[in-house]
Amino acid sequence: MLIDSHAHLDSPRYADDREAMLRRAWEVGVGAVLAIGIGEEPAQMHHALEICRQFNGQPGIPKLYASAGIYPHYTPQIDDAILAKLDGLLAVPEVIACGEIGLDYYHEGAPHATQREGLARLLEISATRKRPILIHCRPKDETTNAWDDLFQILEAHWRSTGLGGIMHCFGGNYEQAARSLDLGFLVSFAGNLTYPKAQPLRDVAARLPLDGLLVETDAPWLAPAPYRGKRNEPAWVLQTALVLAELFGVEEAEIAQATTKNFNRLFDLRPDVGN
Ligand SMILES: [Zn+2]
Repeated sequence: MLIDSHAHLDSPRYADDREAMLRRAWEVGVGAVLAIGIGEEPAQMHHALEICRQFNGQPGIPKLYASAGIYPHYTPQIDDAILAKLDGLLAVPEVIACGEIGLDYYHEGAPHATQREGLARLLEISATRKRPILIHCRPKDETTNAWDDLFQILEAHWRSTGLGGIMHCFGGNYEQAARSLDLGFLVSFAGNLTYPKAQPLRDVAARLPLDGLLVETDAPWLAPAPYRGKRNEPAWVLQTALVLAELFGVEEAEIAQATTKNFNRLFDLRPDVGN
């Protein structure tokens, strides 16, 4: 069984075929999906949970979990009401993680200081609710600025919680991956690991321990080769697992087993979860 550790199942791009899309994932061996609850704005943070509740318990569909969080560029919208909404969602058993949250210095958007202050407030709420965090970290090209700031914040506000989290759609270097593992995080690889120009990223992945890895799609974005450019979906998490298997010189089943075990360990889930 494979777990897609990051998919935006609430995307309007699945409005017409969400159930069929989930069935396709189940058919290729995807046993669970973590549905990311950031919506297209914080007011929609609950949409991922709604999708979990709609589909869980149905045969032929992966077990669905949800997260809730505030994307870095939405941090200017943070106010008491939004934080109360997030806190309420994180209290729900199916909402196993807070995210995706973090720092994005790549795209123009929220001022960096606003992102940092927002992140610190979100960490407080996740810590109180004892939820691991899903981190989005994207520096400006050719720099490490967002990673440097991120690690500073995590050292100050997160390491002591012992809760860890996931470095989602990892795109950093080996030092940043190793530091993430040291902070109790899992490093999650997405479809970009399969792209021809991603050899540096594959070199990083190959140096990491199997017990620190996850796979994800970040669907509907970032479709892996050979589907690049299309709408992505959880079934295609298999492509990323196949590339990892090649890098480690093991069968895909071993990657599936390791990443599933890692996911269950992080979130303290029973290994027999599933519909
Ligand atoms: Zn995402």
